[in-house]
Amino acid sequence: MSSEQIETIIKNEKLENLDTKKINELAYNTASIEKFTKKINNPYSKIISVLIHKKLDEHEAKFTWDKLVTHMKSLEKTLKRPVGINVASVDYIENIKNTSEDMKVMLEDEFETISKIATIDELTSLYKREVLDIFIKKIFEKAKRKNNNFSFMMIDIDDFKDVNDTYGHQKGDEVLAKISKIIKQSIRSMDVAFRYGGEELSVIFPDTKKDDAFMIAQKIRENIQKEYTNDMKITVSIGISSNEEIKKDEQEIIKSADELLYEAKNNGKNQVRV
Ligand code: GH3
Ligand code: MG
Ligand code: MG
Repeated sequence: MSSEQIETIIKNEKLENLDTKKINELAYNTASIEKFTKKINNPYSKIISVLIHKKLDEHEAKFTWDKLVTHMKSLEKTLKRPVGINVASVDYIENIKNTSEDMKVMLEDEFETISKIATIDELTSLYKREVLDIFIKKIFEKAKRKNNNFSFMMIDIDDFKDVNDTYGHQKGDEVLAKISKIIKQSIRSMDVAFRYGGEELSVIFPDTKKDDAFMIAQKIRENIQKEYTNDMKITVSIGISSNEEIKKDEQEIIKSADELLYEAKNNGKNQVRV
């Protein structure tokens, strides 16, 4: 056996040892990643393939690796504890899969900013308010540029305080999580749902006129009501705005949906206002 063949076997042997534990070491140690990447061909492709089971060319793989390491560091800053490259990767992938194309593009574009926020709200599994603020701005600008429409919906649970008072705060949390799930199941894959704050939830409907958003909102409202037909009666009120009538900025869109929601409340709740 030639020394070259032996060298190859050693390299392959080492490669097989490239497990997530080893990759984690590489994520934390600049010197060892430099050493590692000099030693083998297409090192980043190999790392990424072990880490997230994706075959990428070397350039893309290096780009992805840098993102994942950045995401890991941001998460650690937020959580104030080590998370490891594995958890960071899962978190990153979870956050960007199952989301609309617009959202994917936004998450990619705004990687630096977004990765500083843990993007998903724990209780509801919806995107956090901070993500909405960035996303709606993007959608507003994009719609303006392309001269098309998008709609925005604000949802508030009716008499939620009574739910907490009657059944307890924990039950209230369960209801909030369930309603968020119903919303996600009722919208299309292109639509994106957020926890606006407390028991207020919102949805962005890209490329959608207000009348179409209204139909989806009615479906959401009915699906929630149908879920709670026994002794616990739960309903929601909804306000919908769009860039059809609001041209100023995205904050006006949010404000308008909020005002329409307020109208729905004053008009007897359990209804959608556009
Ligand atoms: P309305 O129909 O006018 O919306 O009445 P409401 O009782 O829902 O409205 P209000 O704004 O007075 O109360 C909202 C309540 O929602 C108060 C707050 O305790 C509760 N809440 C907000 N966030 C959460 C949460 O994360 N979990 C639980 N269990 N309750 C929450
Ligand atoms: Mg409220
Ligand atoms: Mg409420």
